[in-house]
Amino acid sequence: MICAKCQQGIRRGEPYETRDIHAASASGTVVHFHVVCPDRPRGH
Ligand SMILES: [Zn+2]
Repeated sequence: MICAKCQQGIRRGEPYETRDIHAASASGTVVHFHVVCPDRPRGH
């Protein structure tokens, strides 16, 4: 799973939330995102 907020992977065991996106072009799309996004990797 990839977090929709920070575009980083959500590891198994990490708390995350899901949200349904009801867009005209995409029915039933579910995105995942961290409850608390981790800090961005250093050096970027
Ligand atoms: Zn995140």
